[in-house]
Amino acid sequence: MRVTVRIPTPLRSYASGEGRVAVEAETVGQALAGLVERHPGLKPHLYDGEGGLRNFVNAYLNEDDVRQLEGTETRVSEGDTVVLVPSIAGGADGATVEETREADAPDAGAPEPLPDLSREEIQRYSRHLIMPEVGMEGQKKLKGAKVLLVGAGGLGSPLGLYLAAAGVGTIGIVDHDVVDATNLQRQVLHGTKDVGRPKLESARERLADVNPHVELRTHETRLTSENALEILEPYDVVVDGTDNFPTRYLVNDACVLLGKPNVYGSIFRFEGQATVFGAETPEGERGPCYRCLFREPPPPGLVPSCAEGGVLGVLPGIIGSLQALETIKLILGRGEPLAGRLLIFDALEMSWRQVRLRRNPGCPVCGDEPTQTGLIDYEAFCGMPADEDAAAVAGAGDVPEISATELARRLEVGDEITIVDVREPHEWEIVNLAEHDALLVPLGELDERMSELDSSDEIVLHCRSGARSARALERLKEAGFRKLWNLEGGILAWADEVDPTKPKY
Ligand SMILES: [Zn+2]
Repeated sequence: MRVTVRIPTPLRSYASGEGRVAVEAETVGQALAGLVERHPGLKPHLYDGEGGLRNFVNAYLNEDDVRQLEGTETRVSEGDTVVLVPSIAGGADGATVEETREADAPDAGAPEPLPDLSREEIQRYSRHLIMPEVGMEGQKKLKGAKVLLVGAGGLGSPLGLYLAAAGVGTIGIVDHDVVDATNLQRQVLHGTKDVGRPKLESARERLADVNPHVELRTHETRLTSENALEILEPYDVVVDGTDNFPTRYLVNDACVLLGKPNVYGSIFRFEGQATVFGAETPEGERGPCYRCLFREPPPPGLVPSCAEGGVLGVLPGIIGSLQALETIKLILGRGEPLAGRLLIFDALEMSWRQVRLRRNPGCPVCGDEPTQTGLIDYEAFCGMPADEDAAAVAGAGDVPEISATELARRLEVGDEITIVDVREPHEWEIVNLAEHDALLVPLGELDERMSELDSSDEIVLHCRSGARSARALERLKEAGFRKLWNLEGGILAWADEVDPTKPKY
């Protein structure tokens, strides 16, 4: 049978950039074997040491999870599509802020009667009020609703703007980041004048202008196992717009424990995913949670973040708007929520596909006999620190490092050093060390191009900030290279310490 295997964006760099391949196969397992035969670089990403499919890569035959069919033994028909769905984390940007500032702690209480609308509000919401699906009652429900946005970044921007405009009465935002110039390409909640300000400050200002009738509650903190239940508790709906796996799992587990719907969205390059966890499916079944979909996170570094891989500017606008729409539907109790379905959007193809998600009765959090009944250490669970900067440092581990200043000094005195840049060609176009004869070998091509390197040379590996080159170093070490250094802080550090004319990105 001729079937199409679709390769998700984060894995395409291991498949010569291809988005799909056609293979001959009788079963799903054979189709995937055919894919790996065509692109051997994919193998470690899809299979574990025992030859089983990895936990964080789900395979679907057309719309159905093969785990709910016959696994890799599931038979395929002519023209079928096998869809690989990996976990992607992209959303807001993360950074660390020590201080914890929490605005007026919201009080939980019995459900209050729906609030009335003022004359001004009636005028403002008139295009809602004349729709029978919303009407006066629906608009009052929106006003009475409390929605928590986790993240005020790419996804949080359209979410905040549309939910405020639509009249959601109470909007909470958790974020601990400041606005950075690199955010402005997609985080439309913030403007040029806001660079350097806390995102919560610019969000508060912008949203208060969009709709002064909305009560904004800002939680300037990183969501942790210690504070998550308390922060989430007063809200009716939680919307996940985070960018890292530990926070994704934390938000999921806290929502399951509190019995709150979790409106999920994630983005990477030009691909987005959206669903609603923890809500009833249109069939009246209890919907799945994130853990039912991805029981375990991918190992650190395997799936690049938006900061590493990039994201198309409009994409968070589309996925975040979908999340806003689903949130409003949940509040109104109208239509069919995106529960039990994962929507996958490919902006380059302009294609939408949908796969069915089912609750896993064996899920450790929402299963019939949950084995985890409280929050855990999610950074340890994901084997990584929650933020990008620390991840880059942790990635270094026992990797020998050289500072940009030291490398410059050694080049200056004429030491023979081979510089290997493991970034992608389009990143080389932005900035490079060509004047020092740097060799471009993208991480994904390292295995096949290793013969271009001489193990007797002293080699300094670099990428943007040091994480990818640390992985490259590990691989070269395994292959027997010994005289290796990782450029600490990557080419960004070079721009800071050595050559300020180099652009940073
Ligand atoms: Zn679950």
